[in-house]
Amino acid sequence: MLPDLTTATVDDRVAYLNQRYKHHAAQAVLERALSDEAVGRIALVSSFGAESVVLLHMISLYDRATPVLFIDTQMLFEETMAYQADVAQQLGLTDVRTIRARPEAVAAHDPEGLLHKTDTDACCNLRKTEPLERALSNFDAWITGRKRFQGQTRAALDFFENEGDFRIKVNPLAHWTPEDVQDYMINNRLPRHPLIAKGYPSIGCAPCTSPVKPGEDPRAGRWRNQEKEECGIHFINGKVVRGPLPVEVEIEEEKPMNVIVTDQGFVNDDWAHGFIAAADLETSAADAPAVAIDLASDADPTILAGRLDGVDLIRVDFPSFSDGRGFTLARRLRLMGFNGRLRARGHVIADQYTMVRRSGFDEVEIAPELAKRQPWEQWQARAAWQSHDYQNRLRGAV
Ligand code: SF4
Repeated sequence: MLPDLTTATVDDRVAYLNQRYKHHAAQAVLERALSDEAVGRIALVSSFGAESVVLLHMISLYDRATPVLFIDTQMLFEETMAYQADVAQQLGLTDVRTIRARPEAVAAHDPEGLLHKTDTDACCNLRKTEPLERALSNFDAWITGRKRFQGQTRAALDFFENEGDFRIKVNPLAHWTPEDVQDYMINNRLPRHPLIAKGYPSIGCAPCTSPVKPGEDPRAGRWRNQEKEECGIHFINGKVVRGPLPVEVEIEEEKPMNVIVTDQGFVNDDWAHGFIAAADLETSAADAPAVAIDLASDADPTILAGRLDGVDLIRVDFPSFSDGRGFTLARRLRLMGFNGRLRARGHVIADQYTMVRRSGFDEVEIAPELAKRQPWEQWQARAAWQSHDYQNRLRGAV
């Protein structure tokens, strides 16, 4: 229930927002955060770095006039400055505010621009933390691109956080994986920061960022050979917060089983036998008891012609959620007369459940991490496929 906003604390509002939007996807969380009165005045803080374009693009879809705070430390790469102007123009963002340190503060503390060589904490505080804190003083909430996979201190990250009892931090991408970020950029054909192609997967100020070798951690090039890992932009009560936060994290030792999505809910996989790859089926004896088959999304279903009797289950792989070939394959298998169980496995999300069922699939196999991010209620909401029962039509039952 919406708390009384005249008396509600930040904690009250955060608890309400996390409860209200816990089953929402990243885009929905962001869209609602822009208008929910429990959030208040909100801005996106963006470095226009390697992955920033994802949130900038989402903002451009929902409200191009959302304030975007861009911190120009005056130590950034030329490429970042050009990319910032280019992305803002391409996406039609109308309120990008460039935030800089006060000239008198720079003149007093770093007149030569060499502070980063002797005291990176003081330099970050002067050029990033203090200017951002000043800019955010006009807002009740800010949007960040932080994600759970980015380390132990972020492993329990929620969509909404209480920042020092005075502001809300919104993390719409909290549950996204590196693959989700890449898929989003590919699917939306978003412009890449030019330094990514030059070996910079994480991009900060020019003096403090170096290229990363294959196999190194993506952030290894930030403050290389120093203990420093964070710029201090995530602060509490105006103070820089670095190093591990007191967050209890449970480490899972065993890899949990995949989850099967059905119209009745999430169930455990009941298929206790193996699967035969379609390629192996071609070379196996024609009368081999193939009862479960794995098919790639680009497989030619005619290789199964005359061999579908006795097959209990066919599992079709979806290598990415932008790959629609699996839907066509399912339809063709049904048209060929396959009446056994048909399962879609891999990169399928709740938004696609209607299409999955209409194409002839009975169920979906997803990783446990996705099941946590997209609980059953989200899939159920898309289960209105019954009103267009193509399955029975394909099977000749209607
Ligand atoms: S990243 Fe380096 S140059 Fe940039 S503000 Fe921090 S210490 Fe200064």
